[in-house]
Amino acid sequence: MIYVHVPFCRSFCTYCDFYSVILCRGRSQTPSKLEAYVSALENEIASRRSQILSTLELNTLYIGGGTPSVLPPSILERIVRALPSSDYREFTLEVNPDDIVHSPQAYLRSLKALGVNRISMGVQSFDDGVLKKMNRRHDSALALKAFSLLRSAGFDNISLDLIFGGFDIDSQILASTLRTIVELRPEHISAYQLSIEEGSILARMCEKGQYRECPDELCAEQYNQICTCLAEAGYEHYEISSWALDSKRSQHNSAYWSRLPYVGLGPGAHSLIGNCRSWNSEMSPSDGLWTSEAETLSPAQIREELIMLALRTCEGVEQDLLDSSLACKALSEGLLERVGSSRVRIPESRFFVSDSIISSLI
Ligand code: SF4
Repeated sequence: MIYVHVPFCRSFCTYCDFYSVILCRGRSQTPSKLEAYVSALENEIASRRSQILSTLELNTLYIGGGTPSVLPPSILERIVRALPSSDYREFTLEVNPDDIVHSPQAYLRSLKALGVNRISMGVQSFDDGVLKKMNRRHDSALALKAFSLLRSAGFDNISLDLIFGGFDIDSQILASTLRTIVELRPEHISAYQLSIEEGSILARMCEKGQYRECPDELCAEQYNQICTCLAEAGYEHYEISSWALDSKRSQHNSAYWSRLPYVGLGPGAHSLIGNCRSWNSEMSPSDGLWTSEAETLSPAQIREELIMLALRTCEGVEQDLLDSSLACKALSEGLLERVGSSRVRIPESRFFVSDSIISSLI
């Protein structure tokens, strides 16, 4: 499993605290920034070749960010060609609707030629007022157009991201967004509750009293609204924040939840190989390079990770991995339910409070 981080965006969304650097269209510094990034990435790929090869039990590639769709096809091609693998079982590229609509048609053909077979598009909402408050680059019309262009180009595995629990989203606004999404029939949907992240524009607005967090009860109601609507539309709720149609689960993300080894390349990316977790620093503003640090996980930390990750999914976890008295208590209180003879999981009706259930079990 390979993850490549592209640390560039065209503008900052108000809720985002991800590491990324603004890349202005047509500015003179853009080519040198991109060249510095891709050269450093090629070097990292060459120096970590054997590590990359050791993580290919599941041959998936995920290029995320940031906004990978701001990269010109020539840069994307250099990244893909530098990797010591090909014919990915799943090759996902994260895109912004604005980039899809404003790129020449040849752009989508070049993505296909590179082997991209899954698109993850950050739509977040189909309400223009909400999108404005998020400072997204697109409006709902642009998102619809981008989706249609992707379909026309032959992409038959598209995931849409959705945000709830903030920006004055009420049940009607959410219902209307869900109606549009269900009509589009993307193969996959990820829905995330808005959280106020330190360092984001929204956090600063909160400090100044310009934004108030959505109450937890309303977030829970909206989460239930999403679960109900997507279940009625035939989507499988296979992980706390993920729904899939026709078994098109994200293979790459599912492997994270099974704690398979993965290698993360690029500034800010994380890797997990056996009991070693490592992470890259951000890009240095002076030379565009990044460094790496690592830690060795103890058996107790690995067990906790396995439990935390597996309990996010509808497959749950092997009951033997849990403390037996804590597991029995959670089962008797309805916080866990049995799956088959040896596994337990959090019931869908309790997914919204999964964090507190998981902490009570580890
Ligand atoms: S949400 Fe995505 S597009 Fe918006 S600033 Fe963050 S990484 Fe960039």
